[in-house]
Amino acid sequence: MSEKPRPTTDFQIASEQFDIASEIMGLHEELRLLLKTPFREMRVDVPIRRDDGTGAVFIGYRVQHNGARGPYKGGIRYHPEVDIYEVRALAALMTWKTALMDLPFGGAKGGVACVPWEMSAGELERLTRKFIQRISIILGPQRDIPAPDMYTNAQTMAWIMDQYGRKNGYSPAIVTGKPLELGGSQGREAATGRGTLFVLEHLAREWGVDPAASTAVIQGFGNVGTFAARFFHELGGKVVAVSDIDGGLYDPAGLDVPAILAYAHAHRGGIKGFGQGKVVSNKDLLNLPCDFLIPAALGGVINRKNAESIQARFILEAANSPTTPRADQKLAERGIVVAPDILVNAGGVTVSYFEWVQNLQQFFWDEDQVNRELAKRMERAWGEVLAVHKERKVDLRRAAYIIAIDRVARAESLRGFE
Ligand code: NAD
Repeated sequence: MSEKPRPTTDFQIASEQFDIASEIMGLHEELRLLLKTPFREMRVDVPIRRDDGTGAVFIGYRVQHNGARGPYKGGIRYHPEVDIYEVRALAALMTWKTALMDLPFGGAKGGVACVPWEMSAGELERLTRKFIQRISIILGPQRDIPAPDMYTNAQTMAWIMDQYGRKNGYSPAIVTGKPLELGGSQGREAATGRGTLFVLEHLAREWGVDPAASTAVIQGFGNVGTFAARFFHELGGKVVAVSDIDGGLYDPAGLDVPAILAYAHAHRGGIKGFGQGKVVSNKDLLNLPCDFLIPAALGGVINRKNAESIQARFILEAANSPTTPRADQKLAERGIVVAPDILVNAGGVTVSYFEWVQNLQQFFWDEDQVNRELAKRMERAWGEVLAVHKERKVDLRRAAYIIAIDRVARAESLRGFE
């Protein structure tokens, strides 16, 4: 397959973030090279039979970026824009995220280029099983552990566990984000949204903002976006706009969050047709006035083109790589504070870690314990990021990267170069 770079790829974003932080750290050139280079990249064909009897061939990827600190860990995404650059970038991001949270994992990511919303449940099951069959040679509870990402969910994880188990026996620790009935963890589904709100509360406290008197705009109304909306509403804040792939709804007086959650639940996750609010495009939604802007869908949406027009005070990156480095710079100049993805959305992989631990021990925790442990981990990571931000006078993203890169660099150095 030819590797023609896209103009602003996620990989460029991830690489630039890494370069900026490693420059500040004065990281040795040898280590920079080692930490930037993915350990293994796998590209597979995924042929399946469609419901109408015709054959279709999809392309899937699994990239294992760095495993110095533990087994590779990262989600699987189904989306038409999935390609090697995106998966490679997201795999690197997972290395920094697990290190920042001090979890004993490395970083990986997977994906299949497909249009999941046009596929039946049967087709998605066949796609998942075939993809796992193809990549299972590099997976394992002590090697590489997938999880959900965009357009994959607990059902997808159940198929992965079942498919892997056919050859390897009962192995719940092979995948996280499973349904509770198959060894999933309490609190996993809500974990990324919950973690996002923990960071929002810490940020608000530090900057002297009362969440109950503030507003939020959320792009993306899937797993992460819906829980972020719910928890922000529970804090007493006003969610003034939300969106999904078909566009957004805006009401400066605040949307009725429980009603829109129920509506989306009844309409396969979509919000189109919900009675309240003015219809806005996803592009315009990002420019709405608010205290907290929470991108929770795709990468690269906050870029050079709109960085000047964003009116939020704070951006919480619930999505992976939503802000380009150019936009980061512009936002900083304008005094807009960006809380980085590797911290904000790390609640998901943190509870995935708890799920893996519970699966290995076959001893399960109740939801209170999961949420308590999650709060503890998020608070610790936030405290560390804030301390580096203050001591070294760098923005929150650089602070987070400095901590993460330092941990992985130490592990690599201890293991030795050869
Ligand atoms: P999801 O599939 O549950 O939901 C995705 C949402 O984004 C849907 O509402 C969809 O309609 C919307 N969307 C798709 N294309 C869009 C577009 N072009 N413009 C606006 N909205 C669009 O996915 P998710 O699990 O909620 O993941 C969302 C983001 O959060 C991704 O960037 C993912 O990598 C990141 N993330 C997810 C988790 C997790 O635990 N699920 C953990 C960490 C990070």
